Amino acid sequence: MSYNLYHCCVVPECKNTSIKTPGKLWIKVPTNLSMRNTWLKLARRDPKALSIKTKLYFCEDHFYLENDMENYTQYKIMGSVKRIRMKPNCIPSRFDCQVDRKRKFTPNKSRNAFIKWQRMSTIKESEEIMRNEEKHVKSLPSCIQDFLLLQNKCDKAVQVVPAQEHKSI
Ligand SMILES: [Zn+2]
Repeated sequence: MSYNLYHCCVVPECKNTSIKTPGKLWIKVPTNLSMRNTWLKLARRDPKALSIKTKLYFCEDHFYLENDMENYTQYKIMGSVKRIRMKPNCIPSRFDCQVDRKRKFTPNKSRNAFIKWQRMSTIKESEEIMRNEEKHVKSLPSCIQDFLLLQNKCDKAVQVVPAQEHKSI
């Protein structure tokens, strides 16, 4: 299991490391280039400044594990999993550690409504990033362009499906 390795969270302002917060799960940034860029941009890191070979991790605080992690139930029941599997199109959506991004929350909204709303604004943000990438993509050979655009379309198609509402815990 990777818990023996030292991890620190790639998100600026997030102070979690595997030493300071040993109980946290560490989610590896996808190797797929467009997903990797999206994740890093959402975290406000410059993907170009980080080598593609570097293994980067987000701590669990930036995800809604119940929704985003494929084997979360197993993790809950067994207390651990061999490998954390995230859902294919999941994106990090919680950045409370970055003070200016703390989403304002009116107390009369239910928790579920809040989560839904927070996810929607993150998805909008990621679509914005994807759109910028599409512009950037124009300078690449057309076969790669098609591939990337197709990939973005697929991502969007999946994101449009409403996230399964999670009844009270
Ligand atoms: Zn973190």
